[in-house]
Amino acid sequence: MESQIYNIAQVAVIDERLDELHEDYGSLPEQIKIKEANYSEKKNLVDDTQHIIDEIVSFVSKAKTTLVELKDKEERLTQQQFQVRNNKEFDAIANEINHIKAEHEHLSNELRTSGVKQENLKSILDSQLKDYEIAKAELDEIYAEEKKLAGDQEAEIAKLRKTRSQFVKDIKIKFMKDYDRIRTMHTDAAVKVKKNSCAGCFSFLPAQLIVEVRNNPNNVYNCENCGRILIPEELYLEDVL
Ligand SMILES: [Zn+2]
Repeated sequence: MESQIYNIAQVAVIDERLDELHEDYGSLPEQIKIKEANYSEKKNLVDDTQHIIDEIVSFVSKAKTTLVELKDKEERLTQQQFQVRNNKEFDAIANEINHIKAEHEHLSNELRTSGVKQENLKSILDSQLKDYEIAKAELDEIYAEEKKLAGDQEAEIAKLRKTRSQFVKDIKIKFMKDYDRIRTMHTDAAVKVKKNSCAGCFSFLPAQLIVEVRNNPNNVYNCENCGRILIPEELYLEDVL
């Protein structure tokens, strides 16, 4: 069986990778939220503008019919004017014709304004649609990224967890408890001795401690400064990632 420190060192390597994977994924949900909000905002703008244009189109269509009706009515009244029996009737019809003419003119003006409005809105809508397309493409892209990342990661995480558990089962419970406790303070709970120092906090280690770390791989020694578990500098580790 491999030494305690060997198994602990391998768990530390795996945990570092698992942390990395977690970090890669970490900011993605937040980014997705931002892209979703942006997409909704752009979509709402398009919908609002389209709604206004629809209303104008409907107004224009009704107004055109109304204009034809007013013209017909005016013509009918003009005909009637020839058949009046007195001035009073003539004036009444003339009044009505004037009224219809005013209404016709008013509606014609409104129709012209609507045409200009509609053209302006069309160009606004075009630019809003471009923004919307960009937002949609960005959202699709990040969804695809999430899907890919989740798929890739799922497989790697499952493999790492399995390998990790194989090392953990050979580690004494008290050492594993130590490791887990140190992990709550330092993500790298077990580090190598490097150039007579702790690779975690870089503090110098007494020669006697370094010798003990090297000679007793089935015991666990901690850095006197930071408390991390010390791994002998020369310990060979297999590639488990
Ligand atoms: Zn240290």
